Amino acid sequence: MIIVFLGPPGSGKGTYASILTKKLGIPHISTGDLVRDEIKAGTKLGKEAAEYVNRGELIPDEKILEILKNRVLKPDCAKGFILDGYPRTVNQAEDLNKIAKVDIVVNLNVPDEVIIERLAYRLICRNCGAIYNEKTLKPKKPGVCDICGGPLYKREDDEPEVIKERLNVYREKTQPLIDFYKKRGLLVEVKTEKFNAPPEEVANEILNLINKK
Ligand SMILES: [Zn+2]
Repeated sequence: MIIVFLGPPGSGKGTYASILTKKLGIPHISTGDLVRDEIKAGTKLGKEAAEYVNRGELIPDEKILEILKNRVLKPDCAKGFILDGYPRTVNQAEDLNKIAKVDIVVNLNVPDEVIIERLAYRLICRNCGAIYNEKTLKPKKPGVCDICGGPLYKREDDEPEVIKERLNVYREKTQPLIDFYKKRGLLVEVKTEKFNAPPEEVANEILNLINKK
């Protein structure tokens, strides 16, 4: 089964996708990670991608498609995969169509307040990148990472006003993509009021929707 996950930054998309990947036994592919891995590994594609990144430019769609194609041809994708962070545009969705047949598109519809709460109280470890929350996931010792003892900080752009603006931009840019998949009957809307519930619970709800489809 090939699943595409859509959701704004802070929707928990990556977290739910990671849980589902275990439940369904198919890999979770984040194109962001994929590109970073290629660059790190210094492959031909990675080197090309690095040139764009270093120039501060977007990696062209055809390069991303090539990197993705290499990944989904690997044996662990034989039973399908979960895509996270791709496609972002209708153009990319049409590209994706050329290399894989998407079965279902899960759109996470998380209320703004939930995302704002999640991000505005987010604390990140400067050392290991672990994520905490001042309200819901406090570190044992204030300002100190439980895992490595490193200092915790807040991202400057995690202010409520900035987050709201980011969400507006996301929605505006993603609507055509949502319409694209809706028209094809592939879209499943996940609207739960319980987005603050344990991730496992939300993941199960998503799984039920996938199974019903
Ligand atoms: Zn840490």
